[in-house]
Amino acid sequence: MAAIYLWWIGADAADRDLLERVRQQVGVVFESPAVLWDDGARPTGTYDTRRGQHSSTQILRWLNEHQPPGALKTLAVTDVDLFIPVLTFVYGEAQLGGRTAVVSMARLGDGLARVTPATVAARLVKEAVHELGHTFGLTHCSAERCVMTRSVNMAGVDRKGATLCADCQTVFKDRLLEGRNHE
Ligand SMILES: [Zn+2]
Ligand SMILES: [Zn+2]
Repeated sequence: MAAIYLWWIGADAADRDLLERVRQQVGVVFESPAVLWDDGARPTGTYDTRRGQHSSTQILRWLNEHQPPGALKTLAVTDVDLFIPVLTFVYGEAQLGGRTAVVSMARLGDGLARVTPATVAARLVKEAVHELGHTFGLTHCSAERCVMTRSVNMAGVDRKGATLCADCQTVFKDRLLEGRNHE
């Protein structure tokens, strides 16, 4: 089915309610069917023993080879800490204009104050929409409340919304129509 597939690949058990919130929001924002998926397979060879973190780029590589049949986009959600070589950590990574993305919950509890489960859920939803936005060809946006704003810390994530600004929405619609015309 040409849907957005959300795939929990974490070490601990999946939080179905949390994934359901992500599913609903990405379905609304990207105007596409969104489903939860898990065929039991998990990425291997992504752990860097020196850094004690998982390579988000390797996860994307694995995901590209294990996408559900006919998936429009596949977003992996994990609880392990992710990195790319030039950064200490990343909240997620996506293929710009591609089909796969990954987001991590490992850092979503960070912040000065005690963080509630509701805050963690809101942050995960935003990061999921953000990374999927990249797969739809959206780049970083300067509109403060736009979900495509680049966030360097949790305060930044908390400041932005979970939806696309009007400009990003226009770009998204163009890209989506382009994709459909080529199918
Ligand atoms: Zn980004
Ligand atoms: Zn925007």
